[in-house]
Amino acid sequence: MAREQSWLLDELKRRGISRREFLGFCAKMAAILALPSSAAGAIAKAVATGDKPILVWLEFQDCCGNTESFLRATRPTVAEIILDTFSVNYHETLMAAAGHQAEAALNQTVAGHPGQYIAVIEGSIPTGKNGAYCTIGGKSALQIAREVCGAAAATVAVGTCAAFGGIPAARPNPTGAVAVGDAVPDVKNLINLSACPMNAENITALLVYYLTVKQWPPLDQYRRPLFAYGKFIHDNCERRAHFDAGQYVEMWGDPAHRQGHCLYKMGCKGPATSQNCPVVRWNEATNWPIGCGHPCVGCAEPNFWDTMTPFYRRLPNVPGFGVGSNLDRIGIGAAAVVAAASLAHGIGEIVRHRVGTKPSDSDRPSGDKK
Ligand code: SF4
Ligand code: SF4
Repeated sequence: MAREQSWLLDELKRRGISRREFLGFCAKMAAILALPSSAAGAIAKAVATGDKPILVWLEFQDCCGNTESFLRATRPTVAEIILDTFSVNYHETLMAAAGHQAEAALNQTVAGHPGQYIAVIEGSIPTGKNGAYCTIGGKSALQIAREVCGAAAATVAVGTCAAFGGIPAARPNPTGAVAVGDAVPDVKNLINLSACPMNAENITALLVYYLTVKQWPPLDQYRRPLFAYGKFIHDNCERRAHFDAGQYVEMWGDPAHRQGHCLYKMGCKGPATSQNCPVVRWNEATNWPIGCGHPCVGCAEPNFWDTMTPFYRRLPNVPGFGVGSNLDRIGIGAAAVVAAASLAHGIGEIVRHRVGTKPSDSDRPSGDKK
């Protein structure tokens, strides 16, 4: 990358981040995206010199947890600067404008840049009582979502509420909450980043992929990027050797718990949950739930609040050693798809996957169904 062409390197320098750190960030993004390490240079060039995409971020029935995750950095990081390359035209929580000014910013973006901006949606969308359970500026969330997502180049549903309905849609679902994909049936280029909340590293990697490849990554059957959801938690878990050896925690604080043994008997849903938590981790890769001694509760899966509860009861039909070979087979299949996709598109091309089947109860893992 020519030094004089990079505004980004100047910005990094201004914020005290070295070129070495930036290249390290690009290598990390390549790793998360399951691209060869040689892709780091192309990523660096693309994010430093590409056009500035427009992004609008809408919050509906949510707890703001995904926004918190988005902002989680405790110090300026390369990721923050990368996200600054996106022109965030509307974000209720972050923008200085309020009221009519804020609504005008959103309307101008939708009317002035049809098919050019990316819509990020946080929270589920209530459909009961004609959408009366969530209104902003006199419009229902349902109406806003259809207007904004309908004209977007792509829509990214962040968090399990936006991706699958989440906790607001748990039985008995009094507001008629639905996922973005159900509220806006003709939405274009929908990408679900499920989890409660979504991991900031994954939205960063998704946007870096878009800036670099100029297309969206291969998706799974729930429209989640394979680079982040192509494997079960169980496949990469640091406690997996204990699972295979039959060494389980039986009680909180027992010797097996203190020695870091497997949490399956304490209700871990890692064998039925797909996400890259063991690899990417949380809080700037400090640790992750299982690393802290708590079972995975399956937050990235559709209907997890109904299908993965009680959280501290073990999954049925996962009797121990037998599950390993079965899950390995599934995991290897998913990994092969990711690897094949990476090889095929390299950094400039993309393999188009079959996507689009909506989640249904029959597709769900056999969690502790009530
Ligand atoms: S059951 Fe949970 S704690 Fe045990 S190996 Fe699998 S993911 Fe890790
Ligand atoms: S470990 Fe499981 S419950 Fe925890 S964030 Fe990851 S997917 Fe969600």
